[in-house]
Amino acid sequence: MRRMQADVVVIGGGSTGAGVVRDAAMRGFSVVLVDRSDLAQGTTGRFHGLLHSGGRYVVSDPGSATECASENAILSRIQAPAIERTGGLFVAVPGDDPDYGDKFLAGAAATGVPASEISVAEALRREPRLNPGIFRAIQVEDGSVDGWQLTWGAVNSARAYGAQVLTYHPVTKIDVSDGAVRAVHCHDQRRDEEVIIDCSFVLNCAGPWAGQVTEMTGLPPVPVVPGRGIMIAMNHRLVNTVVNRLIYPADGDILVPVHTVSIIGTTDSMEADPDHLPIPQQEVQQMLDAGEHLIPGFRQARAVHAWAGSRPLIKDQRVATSDTRHMSRGMAVVDHLERDGVRGLLTIGGGKLTTYRLMAEHITDAMCEQLGEKRECRTASEEIPYETGAHHYVVTHRLADREADRLDDQIICECELLSRSMFTGLLEREPRATLDDLRRQLRLGMGPCQAGFCGTRAAGIAVTEKAVDAERASGLLRLFLKHRWIGLWPILYGDQVRQTALDHWIYSGTLDVEHLPAPVEEVVR
Ligand SMILES: Cc1cc2nc3c(=O)[nH]c(=O)nc-3n(C[C@H](O)[C@H](O)[C@H](O)COP(=O)(O)OP(=O)(O)OC[C@H]3O[C@@H](n4cnc5c(N)ncnc54)[C@H](O)[C@@H]3O)c2cc1C
Repeated sequence: MRRMQADVVVIGGGSTGAGVVRDAAMRGFSVVLVDRSDLAQGTTGRFHGLLHSGGRYVVSDPGSATECASENAILSRIQAPAIERTGGLFVAVPGDDPDYGDKFLAGAAATGVPASEISVAEALRREPRLNPGIFRAIQVEDGSVDGWQLTWGAVNSARAYGAQVLTYHPVTKIDVSDGAVRAVHCHDQRRDEEVIIDCSFVLNCAGPWAGQVTEMTGLPPVPVVPGRGIMIAMNHRLVNTVVNRLIYPADGDILVPVHTVSIIGTTDSMEADPDHLPIPQQEVQQMLDAGEHLIPGFRQARAVHAWAGSRPLIKDQRVATSDTRHMSRGMAVVDHLERDGVRGLLTIGGGKLTTYRLMAEHITDAMCEQLGEKRECRTASEEIPYETGAHHYVVTHRLADREADRLDDQIICECELLSRSMFTGLLEREPRATLDDLRRQLRLGMGPCQAGFCGTRAAGIAVTEKAVDAERASGLLRLFLKHRWIGLWPILYGDQVRQTALDHWIYSGTLDVEHLPAPVEEVVR
């Protein structure tokens, strides 16, 4: 058993927890962030990739629209390398309500969301693949954001302010006595050891699992209603601008260009268990049909990966529990002193990745208020340093980097232009990482071949560099392929069947992956 001490424990290393640990550390608290798994592998690793302009909510949820607009501007300034400023279009396709555009423009003016109508000809000039039947187009300041880069940026900044970060440490219990929080118990999965962190404050940022975490205190769970949505990545950038339908928010109405792919989404339905999110066939077909409305011929592109995420929505009294589409996207802080008479515990839910910094500011303000301390939030004004420099992300950035080092560095993933030194450098810094942990930071196996070529190379290099032994490498590789498969089988049609068969032949035919020696130690998920 290991014992630690901190002022504050933040539970959950998604975008919200990352923002909170940074904010609390910058205000001078000693903070520990714990996550049951790797950073940003919950909802934050399973979202749509859109940095909202606010446009989506100007009619349906004006409060969220205003928050998104102002946070979009702040994040573009403080985390520029994680963001691609693609711009966005809301377009009306045949059959859409012709009057919605006027409501949209009025809503945008009222909520402070920058928006202006452009001619259909101009929209088609910018995005030639768009449905030629569109009859209105409004431009907004949507962007595309890398949730992993955003989260790691915030966490690294928190570390620089002295915060500690414990991944693969699921929280198992929270001690409460005499009406106040005393300690958090977690289990260090990699060392198989119990860890107790004595603290006077716990900030529960466990997203769709936040209800489960409050139960660990013995209190009734907060009513988090997981709203499941699926998304599909198509094998290239069909558009270079975020394209939205000019309608009241609905399923499959946004196409986001993210890195080398474009992502269509999403759906919204209540799911009881955020750990088991199905990707039903009929929703896959629904997304592909929705893509056709925006881009005729959409189905001819190859779907390369599908995934599902779960919105951490706090139950909204105005709508039925099952109706997650119409629940507010606004954030909510639950004060357990008010609700349950327990001091030192706050839970946050709702919100968006786009508003993660503001969510952090609200919950940290609420903590300071309960502690009776005045400490200013500085996260909006201080830029987060990135190794790559503070320029805006551009889709060609890796090409430019590879041109600079092409004579002395190998490419191990052609789809994502990942170089050997990028891979070995991160492995050296994180020797216990799984291939999935590395994927989230490097995009290993995330391009059109879905690890067909790079997976074996990565495992082989890890052994050659003596970072792991051969048995652990084969265990890591099999686990990696298993996880890739979860997102492949729902979209097995057309050319993707051929690609998957090729990948299978490579792994079975050249490596006999199923019969590699089993790892001596269990690989941590
Ligand atoms: C389908 C979909 C599409 C979306 N698209 C967008 C979009 O395009 N743009 C946008 O701005 N927002 C979008 N969102 C919303 C956004 O993704 C979420 O609001 C945001 O990622 C939530 O982050 P979080 O940190 O609160 O939760 P999470 O990322 O889920 O983090 C919670 C963390 O808690 C950890 N945890 C759980 N239990 C424990 C435990 N017992 N011990 C320790 N740790 C624990 C989990 O491992 C997890 O890492 C989308 C959401 C969904 C579902």
